[in-house]
Amino acid sequence: MQSEKAGTLYVVATPIGNLDDITLRAIETLKKVDRIAAEDTRHAAPLLKHFSIEKPMLSIHDFNERERLAIILEYLHEGESVALISDAGTPLISDPGFHLVRYARAEGINIVPIPGPCAAIAALSVAGLPTDKFTFEGFLPAKSEARKNRLELLLHESRTMIFYEAPHRLVSSLQTMREVFGDMRNAVVARELTKLYESVLAMPLSKLVARYEEKPNEQRGEIVILVEGIDEEESETKEVMPEKVLDILLSELPLKQAAALASKITGERKNVLYEMALTKKK
Ligand code: SAM
Repeated sequence: MQSEKAGTLYVVATPIGNLDDITLRAIETLKKVDRIAAEDTRHAAPLLKHFSIEKPMLSIHDFNERERLAIILEYLHEGESVALISDAGTPLISDPGFHLVRYARAEGINIVPIPGPCAAIAALSVAGLPTDKFTFEGFLPAKSEARKNRLELLLHESRTMIFYEAPHRLVSSLQTMREVFGDMRNAVVARELTKLYESVLAMPLSKLVARYEEKPNEQRGEIVILVEGIDEEESETKEVMPEKVLDILLSELPLKQAAALASKITGERKNVLYEMALTKKK
């Protein structure tokens, strides 16, 4: 249960590059809290200095989060207000803070979001891929086999998929995505958002692979990869229907006509069905 005097935990988003993206509420909150818990206090220093914010700080990163959260909860229970920030963007989004928020909520602490930049949402907002449904996949595993396995689990995903990726893995991730999702699947690479060398490239996966293989200079920086989901209708009809439809039509019609009609009904390519029909007739 929350004690009478408990303070508030503010989860504060900070810029992902351009410092002008900080919100007025973020500045006001960072100025009024008693303490700031930052992913890396050295990394946070220039940002805080830029906005003339001076506060006692403590670090909370992936390696010490569980140990640090006990200390932060103590401060909160004693009535102090604490702001949680990460190196960039929204805390907890591929950044530390989840355990702290979970425990603070379980203990009835008041938790207030101060929303702002997030690379995944910034990339999605300009990608031109469907936004009605999407899934945030964070970072793929570093090892290539585990990465491929993870992508294979997404083979039938119909929502737009958002991945964070390190620059030195950009090309190999795009290659594996092409292998798993096919040459023609639409994808977007959003790089260095809000910064000087911001670029957003939207192309089928095969073209993205060729482009980044050719230009190692463009593999640098911070990267979000977005992949369009599978077309639900197309995938259903292509997976189960074409052969069945072709069989029915072949029993009634000449081969060429059956293949053409089956193609119109199922969306499968005519030459694929024609070859299939030829094999069946042999
Ligand atoms: N919490 C952050 C957020 O809200 O987006 C994400 C932190 S995660 C440790 C860092 C990753 O986010 C980078 O490796 C990159 O994939 C992505 N990212 C962060 N800033 C970016 C930017 N300016 N442009 C593109 N991607 C960015």
